[in-house]
Amino acid sequence: MKSFDFAPLNVPGPTKIPLTEPFWQAAANGELHMQYCECCQSYVFYPREICPCCWSDQLTWRQVTGQATIKTYTTIWKPGQPGWSAVTPYTVGIIQLDEGPSMLALLLLEPEQLEVGRAVCFKTINIGGQLMPAFTIPEDNHHDK
Ligand SMILES: [Zn+2]
Repeated sequence: MKSFDFAPLNVPGPTKIPLTEPFWQAAANGELHMQYCECCQSYVFYPREICPCCWSDQLTWRQVTGQATIKTYTTIWKPGQPGWSAVTPYTVGIIQLDEGPSMLALLLLEPEQLEVGRAVCFKTINIGGQLMPAFTIPEDNHHDK
């Protein structure tokens, strides 16, 4: 199993604003939280001031399961930010959460494990000293190759 050691990286962290602070704070606690629209009962990602479906401003934050499916992915050999060069190649993808929203995320999978439609789960990883969101294959599927 490849080890994914991103802790020594010297890369810029996320830009945190009051709107997104609950997301990053949850990640720092090892959890994945999303906005939830109390009006139309749908999850919202990325964070917004109003619901993109019904325009309600009744958005609250909820913890989600972290269960998701890979929609697409790409492996990075030449990162846009030079600080990431130390860990190339690495993979990012668009995952769709079971709750509905899709998000761009770091994927901690072996190349032979990458597959559109594959089930993945949320996991935090230390990137340059900060716990950041990522996705990996669920524990009970680690032996299946
Ligand atoms: Zn809504």
